[in-house]
Amino acid sequence: MMTVTVLDVVAVAASCIALERLGEIIRHPRGVLRGPLALALVGVATWTLAATGVHLGVLGTAGVLVLAALEMIGSWMVVLSGTWAALIISYRGHLVTHQLLLISCVPVMAMVGLLATPSTRSLVVVRIEQVDGSTVLQWGPTFWAFTLIAGVFVGIICALGVGATVATVPGQRAAMVLLMVMIAPAGVTWAFFVADPVSGRWSVVPPLLLALAMLGWTWMQRRLPGLAHLPITAVRVMREVQNGVVVLTPDLVVLETNAAARAMIADGPHRREEDLVGRRWEQVVEPALAALPGVGQTLRATTRQGRVLELTVEDVGGDGTLPALVIAAADVTELTRLRAHLADQATRDPMTGCRNRRFLDQRIPALVARSAQHQDASVLMLDIDRFKAVNDQYGHAMGDRVVIAVAEEATAALPPGGDLVRTGGDEFLLLLPDTDVSGARAIGDLVRRRCSELQFATHGAPVTVTVSAGVAQCRPGMTADDLLTAVDRALYRAKNDGRDVTRA
Ligand code: GH3
Ligand code: MG
Repeated sequence: MMTVTVLDVVAVAASCIALERLGEIIRHPRGVLRGPLALALVGVATWTLAATGVHLGVLGTAGVLVLAALEMIGSWMVVLSGTWAALIISYRGHLVTHQLLLISCVPVMAMVGLLATPSTRSLVVVRIEQVDGSTVLQWGPTFWAFTLIAGVFVGIICALGVGATVATVPGQRAAMVLLMVMIAPAGVTWAFFVADPVSGRWSVVPPLLLALAMLGWTWMQRRLPGLAHLPITAVRVMREVQNGVVVLTPDLVVLETNAAARAMIADGPHRREEDLVGRRWEQVVEPALAALPGVGQTLRATTRQGRVLELTVEDVGGDGTLPALVIAAADVTELTRLRAHLADQATRDPMTGCRNRRFLDQRIPALVARSAQHQDASVLMLDIDRFKAVNDQYGHAMGDRVVIAVAEEATAALPPGGDLVRTGGDEFLLLLPDTDVSGARAIGDLVRRRCSELQFATHGAPVTVTVSAGVAQCRPGMTADDLLTAVDRALYRAKNDGRDVTRA
């Protein structure tokens, strides 16, 4: 007579919830372990229901064999899902089809044997008995082979799981330990069940405990979304971080590289980890990176592809005695370009693109220093004549066009090494190294002539302008202020002498 216990009721309820959770995972897949988790939920539900069915003898003696086969299928799914999960959390990839077929052939043969003929059946189940109202199976050698294989896999799962728990980052270790603790009771009771398989009444306990662990885990995953990304390890961080990391022996033999480092530093064909490991640094890196700086120092170098890299050398122990060097490599190409662009923009006038006063302050000491070394250096100051009138008569926009056009003419007349600075609204200063006063005067006359030929279209007669110019040569003993005062005075004289002239 069938006796239904609380254990049976809990087992059936847990199986039903597991299947409901499975539906939820299929509808909203989340987390790296979703595949193994789905397989585990199918497995525990099948295993638990089949074990309960065997215990209660619901399908009679013939049905017991079908349920026993389902027990084996369910438990094998659990073993596979555990192996799959263990491979994922220890970064050893996913189970692939041929591995799956290979490791499933013995259990599949056991299940087929169970249902095929009476003689093959007796290799799996020796006897079916009724003990205290409970159906009990006496298992045969094929079952034990199956169990042995499953045991080996459980061992592998444990080893990988413990390894992943140890390797995970501290912030996730507690969750990993909790996962292990939740699964452990199922493993322990399974071991007991294997040791005493005749106590059929309790054979439902391992799958039930596992089902509860899986349900607990899915419940936690919904409340703590961070668990979906479990586990993150130092290995994974090193593998995926954008910065390059290379570990070297003190005599510069490569021990380890990450993908980012290989993409940055490796020379030509040396791109794979195995091409670099065991070889000397200077043999495998771009020539510009071959000579490493000392510990704690940074090398900035440009590769043949034009990438700017920054390599910082650290020693693992920090005291120079430990056996490894770590090189942190960063690609600073974009940063360098941006920095240079910003530095350039900070010294330019946005309207004309000429240099500004900040640039003048930075550059003029070098120009003055040339005269101390008896090299020629001059300055030329330009100012648009009666510019206010242009603004007043034709508007500010026309005034802007004139300023831009005069800047363009001055730029065109600039000798190599010279600079053009917009020092005021309509005032420009040309810094002219290697130019004496007569050279500066000639440039002034050239710019004036070109500017006087400019014509700015209006509704009526075109607007024309003239420019006055002052020049001064830097003499030994002059300061920057002396030079600027001298050129200012020269321009003043040009204005006083009727404008559109050059004065020294
Ligand atoms: P002078 O021949 O003595 O130089 O007479 P000027 O009218 O040119 O006198 P000044 O050089 O002092 O005039 C400069 C004028 O330039 C004053 C200001 O309104 C105008 N200005 C300054 N910056 C700008 C600008 O960016 N755009 C325009 N359109 N006008 C400007
Ligand atoms: Mg002016």
